[in-house]
Amino acid sequence: MKYRVFNFNPGPSTLPLEVLKTVQRELLDFQGTGMSILEISHRSTQFEDINNTANSLLKDLMGLGNGYHILFIGGGASSQFSNIPQNFLKQGMTANYIDTGTWASKAIKEAEKIGNVFVVASSKGKNYNYIPDFTSKDFTKDAAYVHITSNNTIKGTQFQCLPDTGSIPLFADLSSDICSKNMNYKQYSLFYAGAQKNLGPSGVTVVGIRKEVLENNKDNLPTMVDYNTHAKKNSLFNTPPVFAIYILKLVLEWIKNNGGLSGIEKVNRQKKDLIYNLLDSHSDFFKPTAEKNSRSWMNITFRLPSEELEMKFISEGAANGLIGLKGHRSIGGIRVSLYNAMTLEGAEAVSELMNSFIKKYG
Ligand SMILES: *Cc1c(COP(=O)(O)O)cnc(C)c1O
Repeated sequence: MKYRVFNFNPGPSTLPLEVLKTVQRELLDFQGTGMSILEISHRSTQFEDINNTANSLLKDLMGLGNGYHILFIGGGASSQFSNIPQNFLKQGMTANYIDTGTWASKAIKEAEKIGNVFVVASSKGKNYNYIPDFTSKDFTKDAAYVHITSNNTIKGTQFQCLPDTGSIPLFADLSSDICSKNMNYKQYSLFYAGAQKNLGPSGVTVVGIRKEVLENNKDNLPTMVDYNTHAKKNSLFNTPPVFAIYILKLVLEWIKNNGGLSGIEKVNRQKKDLIYNLLDSHSDFFKPTAEKNSRSWMNITFRLPSEELEMKFISEGAANGLIGLKGHRSIGGIRVSLYNAMTLEGAEAVSELMNSFIKKYG
């Protein structure tokens, strides 16, 4: 292997090289067992240790204390779109959603199959290029919960501060910005994230639920849908995604060793500042697609003066080891995904490519 590319794919996405090396080193003989982690029982002490360590590491890093259940389950973030209303949208209540993009609208669609849904605010009319304003007066009186998508992976927008929902529980899809900065995660009564963007490989979904919120979920749910099933058994009711949880644990250790969420935030801030500053100082050439006060730290979306130049940017990037820069088809242009595991060097390489385009075509 000569070198690794800078992988800007939106998900699954780049993983820390150190983590991959550990996986490689341990693959054939996991900690002296003579077996691969891929072969050992999910009931073994070795896996139990991994599961428990990942669980407590995540709680520590996110500053959650002991008030939360942390679940590692399969099905992706997408399964939670329906699991959440099945658990928490009771008869006579209304689920309140903020519609900020492709994933948020999918979550809304699923909830509508289960019960009453109210869309509090939407930025659909402007192709979701901003986070809409709303206040607590906009929620319904009978709100079961308020659901947000904290970072909109496709449209490149992100909540800059969290809404005050008062006594209504705030639920969130954190798939593309979980653990990307230091913040008060206790504001969420429930959060979930497919691991494959900021925390690990695909196959495991992290769900965090306040204990007293889970105590009040609906009765008589199908076993696998009921979050209590997984909470009571420490995510070991059935065979969990063992390999993905193992890598998740390694990524969490990597985050801890890199200064925890404060350390991660510092680098993430440097990366996004580098790209946004360049976009802003060449606004005659680059056109960011998200409104300035809604910008995502994780997915930076912008257009070039022509589609032809955009294609050139993507192919020239790929030829230089920068891959995955193509924007989603619903918005076009360029998307630079700067998840936790993307290095500052990666962001610098993109900025060099951008600078070379300004020189050549600006
Ligand atoms: C990627 C993504 C999803 C979908 O995740 P799956 O694990 O593939 O179901 C949902 N929400 C957001 C915000 C995402 O970025």
